[in-house]
Amino acid sequence: MIVMKFGGTSVRNGPMIHQVTEIIRSQLERQPVVIVSAHAGVTDHLIQLGESARTHRPDLTWIRELHTQILSELQLSTHLITPLLEELERTLNTLSLAEHYTPQRQDEILSFGERLSATIIASFMTKQGIPARSYEAPDLGLLTNNHFGEAHPLAEAYPQLKKSISKLQEVPVITGFLGKTLAGEWTTLGRSGSDFSASIIANAISAQEIQFWKDVPGVMTADPRVVLQARTVPVLSFEEASEMACYGAKILHPSSILPAIEKNIPIRILNTNAPNFSGTTIGESPSAVDGIKAIIHKKNIVVLRMKFPSSGLFKSEFLQKVFGIFARYHLRLGLIVTIEDMLTLTLHQPPDSLKILTAELELLGTEVQVEQNKSLICLIGRAVPKVREFAAKIFKSLPQHETEVVVISQGLRKINIAFLVEQSQCFSTLKILHQAFFESELKR
Ligand code: ADP
Ligand code: ASP
Ligand code: MG
Repeated sequence: MIVMKFGGTSVRNGPMIHQVTEIIRSQLERQPVVIVSAHAGVTDHLIQLGESARTHRPDLTWIRELHTQILSELQLSTHLITPLLEELERTLNTLSLAEHYTPQRQDEILSFGERLSATIIASFMTKQGIPARSYEAPDLGLLTNNHFGEAHPLAEAYPQLKKSISKLQEVPVITGFLGKTLAGEWTTLGRSGSDFSASIIANAISAQEIQFWKDVPGVMTADPRVVLQARTVPVLSFEEASEMACYGAKILHPSSILPAIEKNIPIRILNTNAPNFSGTTIGESPSAVDGIKAIIHKKNIVVLRMKFPSSGLFKSEFLQKVFGIFARYHLRLGLIVTIEDMLTLTLHQPPDSLKILTAELELLGTEVQVEQNKSLICLIGRAVPKVREFAAKIFKSLPQHETEVVVISQGLRKINIAFLVEQSQCFSTLKILHQAFFESELKR
């Protein structure tokens, strides 16, 4: 069995769903389990609808028109999604009576995106002669903890998913991104979480391969929307891919690699628009090549700096308490650097709780300096013997360029060099480094 996951842009309209159906058809003998995202733009729109529902009458025009348009392009009846749209409207209406808009409420609203797309895609596949059926992932066993907005699967989800999926006859088209708590409340696995769903399900069924079908020809040397010269990286090790995901490369959800590593399942990143292109294969050390493979960037980084308190707590006690606070707020930490008497941490985005978080940290007897509008740039690769050489190359490339290099850290497995720059200089720094590391040999 293989898992094939199609992202939002890959199912954004009728012609794309047609293309997706043909891609699935071409691999039917490998017993695909299909995971789908909501059509592009739907999750963002549902977030807005949910946020405004307490003060405005829900306006479903955009959602209705988008799905109706897709159904008409696929020559499917609009009745197919009437029950879901009615349920969405009812749910939004109940929100207007609610006191607070909680992450729990938001997850319930967001569930409609993937439920709608899975319904449409499975029906179209069946119409095209591929017997398929849509499933809501929790009905197959994808149960999660109750960290709404960033939930993780419970241990029992894996055997349950295995058991239910092994019994299915038709090609299952399963909602990505979604789970439910034991109490039956909808949860989501974090933005772009369908990748994570696919990896969880692949782990559960011990799939032979996971395919992430996207709008790019694999993992590239940099985000192709920023660096036009970016090119496909044909192979990445699990470690390199995990580092990329953890540092926030948009192409990979941060938790999506681990379930694959656990069962040694190769991941392929493929392009829905060019299905015959080999894309990127991520696997157990598939390449022994040293060198920088990709440069990733992440905007909106928040940097927190704090001095170790001079009296009272031991350093280790202070760190324990600091990390305890971050764990309680369920915040994903990026860089963690301690130099002499200073601890520097980064967060992937400013949390809503930033003010109370810093106030709580200051109760430990430290002053917290918060810097926003930073970007993280990270060079990923197997740089083991060459870190010095690479660092020198970075500094040589950037001198005339007013980059404030704030932190350089070398990963434990020596596969990354990460630093922070002012947000305004993120793209220019990325382009300069890409040229230095990937384009110079082309010019020669
Ligand atoms: P999907 O939702 O289809 O699963 P995503 O939108 O999450 O896919 O990820 C694909 C996007 O990631 C691309 O459109 C691209 O702009 C962005 N991206 C960022 N960094 C990279 C990279 N190094 N290689 C390829 N794409 C990247
Ligand atoms: N639809 C969700 C999102 O936009 C999940 C996903 O696309 O993977 O974040
Ligand atoms: Mg996505």
